[in-house]
Amino acid sequence: HDRPSGRWGEAQVQSVTAPGQANIQAEAARRRTFAVISHPDAGKSTITEALALHARVIGQAGAVHGKGGRRGVVSDWMAMEQTRGISITSAALQFAYRDVVVNLLDTPGHADFSEDTYRVLTAVDCAVMLLDAAKGLEPQTLKLFEVCRHRRIPVVTFINKWDRPGLEPLALLDEIETRIGLRPTPLTWPIGLAGQFHGVVDRRTGTAIHFERAPGGATAATEQELTTDEAARRFGEDWQRAVEELELLDLSDADHDQATFTAATTTPVLFGAAVANLGVRQLLDTLVELAPAPGPRPDVAGEPRPVAAPFAGFVFKIQANMDPAHRDQVAFVRVCSGRFERGAQVTNGATGRPFATKYAQQLFGRERDTADYAYPGDVVGLVNATALGIGDTLYSDRPVEFPPLPSFAPEHFATIQTSDTSKFKRFRRGVAQLDAEGIVQVLRSEARGDAAPVLAAVGPMQFEVATHRLAAEFGVPTTVDHLPYQYVRRTDPAGQEALSRVRGIEVLTRVRDGALLALFPNRWRLDMIARENPTVRLDPLLADA
Ligand code: GDP
Repeated sequence: HDRPSGRWGEAQVQSVTAPGQANIQAEAARRRTFAVISHPDAGKSTITEALALHARVIGQAGAVHGKGGRRGVVSDWMAMEQTRGISITSAALQFAYRDVVVNLLDTPGHADFSEDTYRVLTAVDCAVMLLDAAKGLEPQTLKLFEVCRHRRIPVVTFINKWDRPGLEPLALLDEIETRIGLRPTPLTWPIGLAGQFHGVVDRRTGTAIHFERAPGGATAATEQELTTDEAARRFGEDWQRAVEELELLDLSDADHDQATFTAATTTPVLFGAAVANLGVRQLLDTLVELAPAPGPRPDVAGEPRPVAAPFAGFVFKIQANMDPAHRDQVAFVRVCSGRFERGAQVTNGATGRPFATKYAQQLFGRERDTADYAYPGDVVGLVNATALGIGDTLYSDRPVEFPPLPSFAPEHFATIQTSDTSKFKRFRRGVAQLDAEGIVQVLRSEARGDAAPVLAAVGPMQFEVATHRLAAEFGVPTTVDHLPYQYVRRTDPAGQEALSRVRGIEVLTRVRDGALLALFPNRWRLDMIARENPTVRLDPLLADA
């Protein structure tokens, strides 16, 4: 059992897998691949660092954002990132804990929230829903949860910031159950209300664990097991209260059940404070003991591909020009089956063309660390991957194609055009490239014509990324004009026809998949139009607010 080993900045980089021991099934079984879903400021960066502190960092693909002087990897592929102090880059952090290899995939938040954030959830086997104890469920968490629900991803809930005043624990459970319909099954229970955090009771063993906080989260917290008598003596009323609440839980069908957890209808709940490293070990143990290992992934025909089948994976994220010195494009691939070997020739399922993986890399900060082997659940960054697109399947020798990645509900809309008509061809090529990378969705309509397509994005910053990239890489100056739409619904040709007479809304075709999307200025107008046109198809898109 690995003990917390030093500070995260000093974590060692080393390979966990001896080459040649290719027991793919066993390697897959010891992988845990997950992402944190949360609202900005709930503590995602803090818990990422706390998890890494308890474990041993062995690799990093892309960059995890670090803020406020803490160690973090600042990527500088775009000047914009620096001026805004955020990181657009995201991929995966890999660490070893006990005998397991944990892959934590980053879900960018704040201003860098984009379709990428949702797409990461297509590449994980589990999610940790991180809630601020004072705030409960917040909008961005709800949107990300919708994607988890759609994909039936099991969710572990971590209630963070218990060291600060917050909501009552039973009220938080109630909120989870009533608002998102997941039945909470607490694994630990706090001793002391939020703000008076003494420790937790491990509900599976009944043990009281006293936390001794380590300020600043620089080291792991000390934990001391107490007898119930000792806990009662030390914590008095707080202990009594915990005991009563635990009795209530025992009567209310709130015990962990592995089958309903993996079926994503119940969620194990843990309480902690990431900033002081309290309850973080319990979270890691939960991931190791309860979270599912990579399983067979259904192909485009719905046939599950076993993890021990020859290598196959899919591209869930594309990052262009991460490193100005290299000027390239990195495709992040989630390995689904088999063993990935650097240098192997693989086939791109989308085009049938071979793709050489000589430059497969894990990116550790700015220094590129070469990945030689990767197993199901792992993430590999492929450099020079200009021929790859979002959702493409790669395989070694048994052909497979995984289903295309879903498109998500955009909430920001703008037209883009270039004033330099001599560069129109390049403009078109650039816009198509941004669409292929999944940076923006491109919408067109006959009424608007070719010169000013509509861009749709999940996060508003994607428009800036688009103009920046068009200027820097295609040499095309562009202007973006925001459109007054906020809501989108999918319709059909009959709906398009019916809605063409309604003022203040618009129906466009999404180039990526031909979907007909109706855009509405606000919720009120959308509801009204839906009421007035009861036969018109108006379906919400995935992750719709
Ligand atoms: P992110 O936006 O979700 O990545 O949130 P951060 O990790 O940057 O945390 C946001 C703020 O909450 C920071 O000031 C953290 O120090 C603070 N924070 C995170 N976890 C805790 C916690 O457990 N307790 C307290 N009191 N503050 C926390």
